[in-house]
Amino acid sequence: MRDITQADPKKYIIIKGAKVHNLNNLSVAIPRNKLVVITGVSGSGKSSLAFDTLYAEGQRRYVGSLSSYARQFLGRISKPEVEYIKGIAPAIAIEQKVNTKNPRSTVGTSTEIYEYIKLLYARIGKTISPISGEEVKRDSVTDVVDYILNIAENTKAMIVCPLAIKNREIKKQLSVLLQQGFSRVLIDGKTERIDTIINTHHDKEKEIKIIIDRIVIKKDSDTESRIGDSVQTAFYEGKDYCEIISFEGEETISKKFSAHFEKDQIKFEEPSVNFFSFNNPYGACKKCEGYGSVVGIDENLVIPDKNKSIYEGAVACWRGEKMSKWKDLLIMNAMEFDFPIHRPYYDLSEQERDTLWKGNKYFNGLDDFFKHLEAKSYKIQYRVMLSRYRGKTTCPACKGTRLRKDASFVKINNKSITDIILMPVKESYQFFKKIALNEHDKEIAKRLLKEITNRLEFLTEVGLGYLTLNRLSSSLSGGESQRINLATSLGSNLVGSMYILDEPSIGLHPRDTYRLVKVLEKLRDLGNTVIVVEHEEEVIKAADEIIDIGPFAGTHGGNLVFQGTFDELKNDTENLTAKYLTKQIEIPLPEKRRRWNDFIEIKGCSENNLKNIDVKFPLNTMTLVTGVSGSGKTSLVKKILYPALKKIHGGYGEKTGKFDRLCGEYEKIAFVEMIDQNPIGKSSRSNPVTYIKAFDDIRELFAVQSLAKLRGYKPGFFSFNVPGGRCEECQGEGVVKIEMQFMADIYLTCEECNGKRFKEEVLEVEYKGKNIADVLEMTISDAILFFSKEKTAATREKRILQKLQSLEDVGMGYVKLGQSANTLSGGEAQRIKLAFFLSKGNTSKQGLFIFDEPTTGLHFHDINKLLKSFNSLISLGHSIIIIEHNPEVIKSADWIIDIGPNGGDEGGDIIFEGTPEDLLHNKNSFTAPFIKEKINN
Ligand code: ADP
Ligand code: ADP
Ligand code: ZN
Ligand code: ZN
Repeated sequence: MRDITQADPKKYIIIKGAKVHNLNNLSVAIPRNKLVVITGVSGSGKSSLAFDTLYAEGQRRYVGSLSSYARQFLGRISKPEVEYIKGIAPAIAIEQKVNTKNPRSTVGTSTEIYEYIKLLYARIGKTISPISGEEVKRDSVTDVVDYILNIAENTKAMIVCPLAIKNREIKKQLSVLLQQGFSRVLIDGKTERIDTIINTHHDKEKEIKIIIDRIVIKKDSDTESRIGDSVQTAFYEGKDYCEIISFEGEETISKKFSAHFEKDQIKFEEPSVNFFSFNNPYGACKKCEGYGSVVGIDENLVIPDKNKSIYEGAVACWRGEKMSKWKDLLIMNAMEFDFPIHRPYYDLSEQERDTLWKGNKYFNGLDDFFKHLEAKSYKIQYRVMLSRYRGKTTCPACKGTRLRKDASFVKINNKSITDIILMPVKESYQFFKKIALNEHDKEIAKRLLKEITNRLEFLTEVGLGYLTLNRLSSSLSGGESQRINLATSLGSNLVGSMYILDEPSIGLHPRDTYRLVKVLEKLRDLGNTVIVVEHEEEVIKAADEIIDIGPFAGTHGGNLVFQGTFDELKNDTENLTAKYLTKQIEIPLPEKRRRWNDFIEIKGCSENNLKNIDVKFPLNTMTLVTGVSGSGKTSLVKKILYPALKKIHGGYGEKTGKFDRLCGEYEKIAFVEMIDQNPIGKSSRSNPVTYIKAFDDIRELFAVQSLAKLRGYKPGFFSFNVPGGRCEECQGEGVVKIEMQFMADIYLTCEECNGKRFKEEVLEVEYKGKNIADVLEMTISDAILFFSKEKTAATREKRILQKLQSLEDVGMGYVKLGQSANTLSGGEAQRIKLAFFLSKGNTSKQGLFIFDEPTTGLHFHDINKLLKSFNSLISLGHSIIIIEHNPEVIKSADWIIDIGPNGGDEGGDIIFEGTPEDLLHNKNSFTAPFIKEKINN
């Protein structure tokens, strides 16, 4: 370990005496401009070091450099508890969570690519009239002068402009013109002297033009400046219109100019950045108001089963006695226009589908059908019927791009901004790379194009070439959004920064870990310090330096137990991480795989990229769904299996993904639970013990203490959710929120209760020498010791113990009882949910539990514990389905369903179904090679 007093702050980030959370007066010198991996068991203090110390201090100093508004809070932003930090650079954290803050965020906006594309289109986009296909341009005085000077010398010409006829009499207007010094007008093409015609009768229908000037074209500077002045006058008098009439030999040539932005009698909007902003009312699509979807007839509801042919009743709304006459008409006449009524809907061509919807002279299509229903919607049964087929559909006006329609008139190299954001990233990358521009535009676009192509290239590089820029961020899988954040950081080309990442390998198949490592190395090679909290072996191997925090969790952790290279780590015989890496300790293979008879089968899955697959999920086993990122695991399990089963038991408003039908023993399942990584609560009011309902018992325990009884405190008095005993300044939160402009909100410790959340007098009530705030500060492990101190624990204490034990069993012993839900990681939240079900013990009802990457945040050591909890759930009679990439868990499966082979359109098939042993023989699975070494020795 490096001596921090000798380290040079130019080469190292030097931390002395860190005491944040469980950190045990930790000092460390972290090399700058290197790839550093921080590892250690869950709860050992990795995040406390990386995020709560390093990142927090980086941010704090950054705030100091900001506006005075932000600065006024600087003194109150709690400084991480640390003696000093030297050599720190501005800190950037790359989060692993999907950014759901802004529901309108897309791949394009979150990577800032859209920002640059908007600028590009606003600056060099050409507006093309959809009528003539010609460019729309505003004519300037120079344009007109240039035109005139291009006419052959000595040609006669007139500069004229329209006479805007006002309400007042023409005669009066003519006399004003006379006073202004004009002497001639054109009436229906004939030159007239104003003074001779002023007193004659004037037909209002006639077109009158003012002759501003008559010239003989000469290329000298005098004529030139006279022409310039006259054109300017013409534009002024003609309200931005003017006309040049030249007499070339026999011919009279007229050319009209307009300083308005118009063409083909249509006024166009001039491109600006806001014109392309769907977040702005000016740029948003008028039809969907910028949401990209509208409520309309949903094809998926009308044709729920695409395996059926028209004859078999594919069209759901044409079933039943009354409505089937619509279908019969089509079937009877289908011969006339060669319509394949016996072919499944999914096999119909684009054109045949179109016919089905639009109809023809032989039959009425679906569009007509729904118009008919609408026309009769005053009748309740028609209204009900209509509502059954209505759903959110892509907005037809903007094709889901949320932009006003005329935004797509603006083009660069024949492509509009909507074309760009609807194409896969790998195509738009090629488009911008090969773009052809004139010198003028090239100069303007140079920097923007570099920013755009850089970012698109990085997205392609991290394997996301199949996404479109229009894709909603909220619909991305965890792995996808993680890599987007990484690509964005690379694209921003910031140097000399400190990047801190939290388990970037989450959601990534081991096959792709090397790519991630390459990107991390690139970020470092740009001149940044890259600090990664990670458990994945491949990433640990790639580190320039490994920092191991431990040895265990919570109060038993918080020390620097190792610092050095991978080889050095392997030789450290004491180190727990090393013991797993060198296989001194191993997660054992299960003694035997569970066999199964019962299963649930889902047929015809075709949500997103799934290729119409039939999948069997065995019951009473641990089944793993594997495959590379974007292969379709989530689409299968979370979008189809979960909602389909949930709907059987009522409730679940969300749409079920596309599938055909459910078969097998699904009736044996009494309930289905998704144990996801969503927070167990968003506020600081929920915490592990409130979630598993242990806090109720703890509050009652305090309410029966003699001082509480004496003062008449009821259990509710010990709650921070209702007024009474809680601190009212912070309403029991312990912190107050300060909203900041341009950056994340800042939470400050409540000054009234010092973060203890309760009033002084409540804290006077003690149980075995501890008050309620003290108890909430204990870790689960410590609390178990505390409540079991007395051998003859009362039933209330026993209840508390039993619930706390289930948290301990899922490896959460290091967490504090009162630790706010919003400070728990996704993995921790997931394990607390698991604990809740384990604490319920034996029930007669069999459930199906679905987990999404439960090993997130887990060290090998913790995975061992987690697998034990899974086994106890199954022995209680439940079934488990897990989406996971971790080889340790995959090797422990009873059954594996491997989806692939690749991401996006190149995935969505079943590659393998069977036991881990059988997977080893599969040549097509990308998962097999990573299990091989785990099973073979
Ligand atoms: P790791 O990142 O290694 O999993 P953490 O740094 O998150 O570990 O946690 C180390 C210890 O600090 C744990 O005992 C944890 O419960 C505690 N801890 C983490 N965050 C907070 C917090 N916001 N408030 C109080 N204690 C915390
Ligand atoms: P996995 O869980 O295996 O990473 P997903 O099921 O999330 O994969 O995604 C499978 C494919 O479907 C990917 O190409 C993904 O981009 C696409 N996809 C997922 N959700 C949506 C959505 N809401 N809209 C459009 N495409 C989606
Ligand atoms: Zn729209
Ligand atoms: Zn308070």
